[in-house]
Amino acid sequence: MTFQDLQLLPQLLRAVEDLGYEAPSPIQAQAIPPALAGRDLVGCAQTGTGKTAAFAIPILQRLNGQVGKTHTPIRALVLTPTRELALQIKESFDQYGKYLPIRHTVIFGGVGQGPQVEALQKGVDVLVATPGRLNDLCNQGFIDLTHIETFVLDEADRMLDMGFIHDVKKVIARLPKKRQTLLFSATMPQEIADLSKTILVKPARVEVTPQSSTVEAIEQRLYKVDKGNKKLLLQFVLADKSLDSVLVFTNTKHGADRVVKDLTRAGIPAMAIHGNKGQTARIRALDSFKSGEIRVLVATDIAARGIDVAELACVVNYELPNVPETYVHRIGRTGRAGRGGLAVSFCNYDELAYLKDIEKLIKKKVPVVEDHPWPMEIFEATPKAQRPPRPPRAERQQAAQPKTKPAEKAPKQPQKPVLAVEQPPVQPKMPKAAARRDPPRPAPQAGTEKSIPRTETKPIPLPAPVLPDPPKSPVRRISSDPPRVGRLMAFADGRKHRKPRRKG
Ligand code: AMP
Repeated sequence: MTFQDLQLLPQLLRAVEDLGYEAPSPIQAQAIPPALAGRDLVGCAQTGTGKTAAFAIPILQRLNGQVGKTHTPIRALVLTPTRELALQIKESFDQYGKYLPIRHTVIFGGVGQGPQVEALQKGVDVLVATPGRLNDLCNQGFIDLTHIETFVLDEADRMLDMGFIHDVKKVIARLPKKRQTLLFSATMPQEIADLSKTILVKPARVEVTPQSSTVEAIEQRLYKVDKGNKKLLLQFVLADKSLDSVLVFTNTKHGADRVVKDLTRAGIPAMAIHGNKGQTARIRALDSFKSGEIRVLVATDIAARGIDVAELACVVNYELPNVPETYVHRIGRTGRAGRGGLAVSFCNYDELAYLKDIEKLIKKKVPVVEDHPWPMEIFEATPKAQRPPRPPRAERQQAAQPKTKPAEKAPKQPQKPVLAVEQPPVQPKMPKAAARRDPPRPAPQAGTEKSIPRTETKPIPLPAPVLPDPPKSPVRRISSDPPRVGRLMAFADGRKHRKPRRKG
């Protein structure tokens, strides 16, 4: 199939040609025709499959010819969970719509609302938004959603993971009943399946690359290593200069900062991107990474969601995720648009159980690199006093779907921060080579070692028994939205002044 076969406007054909797209991706080929026909649609697809064009192109085509006046109402809304995704979707509208007179803008939390309100007041046809900021601006009367003709709910499962589902429902309640709805989700948890039944009318169903099959295109390698040696192992992996863009995943924000610190000390420039970083810092890190100024970007899962870097050479799982689907999401970053990539995972003894869950999901063993300078030497679980217990899988999945609402600015990680807890300094964590005194065992050349991953045949020892969940700390709302703190302070202040005075 070609883009011409989809009967797109010449302006859209020219735009995709400019981008060098030769043919529609499977999700585009399947989703564009029903979306152009005005049908509702449910698409099971993750970022990297070309799903943005699958909804942006039909929206642009359908809106064309009926836009351009300054105060026309917003007619298409794309709701997406993170600022990074929102910005990328906006960029996609810039690219696909560059020959069309359709105005679009993006709004998200974590930055001042002034410029966003100004952009809205100039008149907008397509609005890309994150749910918290959208509801805020609706409540303030800056946005009217009653004329929406097409509504896109992007990454619906992630909305649920991040605790935004109530905000999403509030947005849906503001939309007119008669509209086209396109829902995209990488997975279809029950709550999303239920929601889709209530918001979609006879939807076309489109599914591409089931999660575990995207893994096929990616070369996976597993390094068994002690926790204390991971930083040295990372430097060893990065010695392979052919890995020119490397995305390193940690399970926690604190972990991401520590990895950046270790790499910087070792003379390897790196930056971190996570929920505690301000918007400017995130954009700077992403830009530096995309431009090749830095080779290594360290990210937590939610911050990395939607990062679209063409030709990402390698993904490193510095820590294995305790939700196996997250592993698939992470390594999928390196196999974008059909290109294969390399996914390297570090696994210490405590993480062997996560590895087992991952291998069960992807239905194969991750090939183990046995010959490396920092092999695992600790074969016992970290004392329980120093690490939180690993809950049963059902509980972990439930934990990935919090009922409370964290803020967009610092979204709650879907996983429990099992690996965030500092372990005691790993004693004698000297690499084997150093223990034997120098000269150290010649490390395999990073470049040559590439071809020798072997599948391990040894049985995998499992860590200590499963214990119940530790008590959850309350969800902290770190929002840019001023009213809560402001109102509270004003209230406290007001109360103080209202206190009745005693006579005399
Ligand atoms: P998305 O899943 O929309 O984030 O897209 C992932 C990447 O694939 C982006 O870099 C797009 O520019 C690219 N892409 C989208 N559609 C196509 C296509 N038909 N051919 C080649 N690349 C594409």
